[in-house]
Amino acid sequence: MIALVTGGNRGIGREVCRGLAERGHTVLLTARSLEAATAAAEEIGGDVVPVRLDVTSERDVVDAAALVTERHGHLDVLVNNAAITYDTWQGAASADLEVVRAAAETNLYGPWRLVQELLPLLRESAHPRIVNVSSEAASLTNMGGGTPAYGTTKVALNALTRMLAAELRNDGVLVNAICPGWVATDMGGPGGRPVAEGAAGILWAATLPDDGPTGGFFRDGRPLPW
Ligand code: NDP
Repeated sequence: MIALVTGGNRGIGREVCRGLAERGHTVLLTARSLEAATAAAEEIGGDVVPVRLDVTSERDVVDAAALVTERHGHLDVLVNNAAITYDTWQGAASADLEVVRAAAETNLYGPWRLVQELLPLLRESAHPRIVNVSSEAASLTNMGGGTPAYGTTKVALNALTRMLAAELRNDGVLVNAICPGWVATDMGGPGGRPVAEGAAGILWAATLPDDGPTGGFFRDGRPLPW
């Protein structure tokens, strides 16, 4: 099985790469710094290939798709993990829209771009899976102030997840949004749960059986309210 993970150099993404490699996948560990991708791939070991990929770069995404085409001819798993929390902290009413735009480039257009470019390769897989790493902060039942750029871009990612799942259901592509919970990473800060626990729900979605769910929003394999 061939898997591609964005933001694989640290945090939850790196742990997802480790987990997929342990399950016997060939993992394209992508990061916007090739040096960081290489260091993480060496640390994990196994069949983990470092690839430079900034999700905001159309060129990088096209190049990554060309590399997968040339080396493998198909892709089984896409994990859209990379994200930023860079935010205004001022509430939606006075948010700096340039900050919102920057968050959308990474958290929404990045995953969208990857799906569009990699879909032909996913269609060549017998068991294609797309995992969009989301957040409970995107649940409309939780929507409050705080991080309007992060929150609204993750809500949009959830909407994209449902649309893709509906469009691709008949092609056997399972598409789900996964919240890892509060995880102790650079983004989550101290006090969250270990990365292995956060990664577990993502690995579950990446390795679902063919009759598994699609178009869902889950944490630890259990549904979350949209
Ligand atoms: P980290 O901040 O620890 O890591 C973020 C990763 O995304 C890094 O590898 C970073 O790369 C990468 N990244 C950022 N921008 C880009 C870009 N333009 N192109 C490619 N890679 C990029 O975050 P976490 O590991 O904590 O988060 C992973 C996912 O989990 C995110 O989608 C996040 O929203 C979600 N999440 C995390 C929670 C938590 O508590 N930690 C809670 C809920 C959801 P670089 O090193 O170059 O900056």
